[in-house]
Amino acid sequence: MVNRLMKTCSLFILFLFSIILIVCNKVKTIEKQTVMTTESNSANFDQKEERMPEKIIKSDEEWQRLLTPEQYKIARKKGTEAPFTGKYNKFKEIGLFQCVCCGNELFRSESKFDSGTGWPSFWEPISEQNVKSSIDASYGMIRTEVTCGRCDAHLGHVFHDGPPPTGLRYCINSGALTFVKRKDE
Ligand SMILES: [Zn+2]
Repeated sequence: MVNRLMKTCSLFILFLFSIILIVCNKVKTIEKQTVMTTESNSANFDQKEERMPEKIIKSDEEWQRLLTPEQYKIARKKGTEAPFTGKYNKFKEIGLFQCVCCGNELFRSESKFDSGTGWPSFWEPISEQNVKSSIDASYGMIRTEVTCGRCDAHLGHVFHDGPPPTGLRYCINSGALTFVKRKDE
């Protein structure tokens, strides 16, 4: 009799616990949604705090007008500059590297390193949202292509043989970048 009572009791407690858990989870989801809406609202008011870059879409003709033939070939037609020829390969100034097409901030000079490959190399982008990675199976190789998160410009590729702390090597064409010197230096 006591045993049955204990069993019923523990079953009831278990039931109560699951109800509490479900209610807690619902409250959390609602909280999360509220935070997300507040964030996106504030992003609208303050352009600097914007997390998701707004997409920029232009026709091939427009890009051709805005870029040099070399920049157009690299950024819009997935070209690659010859190694050791790009202007940012040995470049050591302190500042920001932006997308040559749309000005989206891509890499900081602090994450640039000399990989010896002949292309500007970085171990991390400014933000995961500013650059996009996707599989590129061209030329009989499986590589990870890196593109601009805002205008889809081809930037280069990312490899897993970079230095710490990320172990990544963003191998980027100089022709896909513009450099902005840091103002406070
Ligand atoms: Zn861009």
